[in-house]
Amino acid sequence: MLDSFGRDITYMRISVTELCNLRCRYCMPEDGVCKKAHEEMLTEDEIITAVKAAASLGITKLRVTGGEPLVKKNILSICRRAAAVPGIRELCMTTNGTLLPALAVPLREAGVRRVNISLDTLDAGKFRYISRCGELSQAVDGIRAALDAGFEKVKLNAVLIGGFNDGEIPALAELTRRYPLDLRFIELMPMYDCGDFGPDAFIPCTVVLDRLPELEAMAPDGGVAKLYRLPGAQGSIGLISPVSAHFCRDCNRIRLTADGKLKPCLHSGDEYSLKGLDFDGMAAELRRAILCKPSWHGVLDAGNRSRAGRSMNQIGG
Ligand code: SAM
Ligand code: SF4
Repeated sequence: MLDSFGRDITYMRISVTELCNLRCRYCMPEDGVCKKAHEEMLTEDEIITAVKAAASLGITKLRVTGGEPLVKKNILSICRRAAAVPGIRELCMTTNGTLLPALAVPLREAGVRRVNISLDTLDAGKFRYISRCGELSQAVDGIRAALDAGFEKVKLNAVLIGGFNDGEIPALAELTRRYPLDLRFIELMPMYDCGDFGPDAFIPCTVVLDRLPELEAMAPDGGVAKLYRLPGAQGSIGLISPVSAHFCRDCNRIRLTADGKLKPCLHSGDEYSLKGLDFDGMAAELRRAILCKPSWHGVLDAGNRSRAGRSMNQIGG
């Protein structure tokens, strides 16, 4: 369905939980989330009804996210049912990877075609620091499990943080030479309530081009990343610049939170509730949300924080 600015909205990100087994500093508060009442959250049946309503309006691609989607007990059933909804052509997932060793194969069998795994650093101490409690080895084991499970694509997401991991750009990029992995550098977004990152942390993705002059530009693939490749590499390197060069004009996505709120824009506080609605009610709200999608997210930087009104784990990224 076209929004009021002529953008064809074909992609819905679904956060299935706000909970997570990590506590990344840019994403969620140290003490985690204030656990909401079970009744406030979408049930599995409601998630699937929302997918059917979205598909009836032209959504063809879904990304399951969170919080950490793999801590959700019924994640395989949600994926299996969502992938089978007529009109849905592609089901992807974004995960921190730590639970993939046990779940990669069942997820692939449930219909997940592509996975994005978050990996900001290759240094065990820095991984522990940024995630506040995680172990690098678990994420690496998850990446290996994803590669072995036969997903159509395995991508790594690295949030670029000045003074933290900008020195690791070459080492992270090297992974695309050694493995069939695509790497995405994502600019740190200033969420309103998380992280204590000063202005120096917010660096543009163009620093990747400065550090890796040998990168060769690739043709766009329809996504939001500007694509490059190291000579001879198996995978691509993408730069995603929501802060320094926003891509709102081409934004084709809406987001559904675990508590049933449709967010037409990641950085807007506008939300439309699907909780408790039937198919027709959900389709009507989806239509309303798509028509009210703003033209862009407004200025974002260290001094102009996101107006999302939620931390990232409560939206899904
Ligand atoms: N737990 C899963 C994971 O970490 O991949 C899925 C949810 S997480 C909210 C989705 C994506 O959002 C991750 O790639 C994460 O790095 C990214 N993210 C979280 N907070 C961010 C921020 N402030 N700026 C940029 N990306 C962020
Ligand atoms: Fe959890 Fe993902 Fe947020 Fe890290 S980025 S705290 S893994 S939801």
